[in-house]
Amino acid sequence: MASPTVVVAEDDSAIRELLTHHLSREGYTVIAASDGHSALRYARRAADLLILDIGLPGIDGFDVARSLQRDRRGVPILMLTARADEIDRVVGFEVGADDYVCKPFSPREVMSRVRAILRRTGRAIEAPPTLLSFGRLEIDERAREARVDGNDLCLKPREFSLLLELASNAGIALSRERLLERVWGYDFNGDARTVDVHIHRLRLRIEEDGTLPHFVQTIHGFGYKFVRS
Ligand code: CA
Repeated sequence: MASPTVVVAEDDSAIRELLTHHLSREGYTVIAASDGHSALRYARRAADLLILDIGLPGIDGFDVARSLQRDRRGVPILMLTARADEIDRVVGFEVGADDYVCKPFSPREVMSRVRAILRRTGRAIEAPPTLLSFGRLEIDERAREARVDGNDLCLKPREFSLLLELASNAGIALSRERLLERVWGYDFNGDARTVDVHIHRLRLRIEEDGTLPHFVQTIHGFGYKFVRS
């Protein structure tokens, strides 16, 4: 079965790129739209799921959803809402949304809603996310476990996400800002030192064993890079 196609309709480019990144990494085919007209066009053509911001230029998210409802296409919709007073209209299913997420949201939350909707509609991805293997270090995305010689390191959720983000981009230098956005979310208010603190903790966990190679390299004045050893 081909990977499910998710249309991301969002005019805020930071949010659109964040969602596109996470969806692609989970194996979905992603089509991005930055206005209501293209959202409607893409959703009609190919979507297994539409992630739909309400405040869109052109035609707004409510009208996009109503048009799809009129077509009886049955495209599942996950609404993104920024205002509490919009929630009633969304959850009242006035517009036929299957679920909704309030901004600011964590990418993880959105991904779990996406999986749930696709499971309900029988379009879930069958192949599990990857198992990354670096010698004795294994990163199991599905179980959210990092293991050395098969023993779970019991990383905290944020440490695991940070390791996964670095290891999924092995060999690529990632700036602190990018790590903040990808791991903490675009709305996170902390500064770059937050990343340093978590990297320090992560190193203690995965590199305390002197026989393991040094996986996380510091790129001075920029950020960090995961090296395959
Ligand atoms: Ca918007």
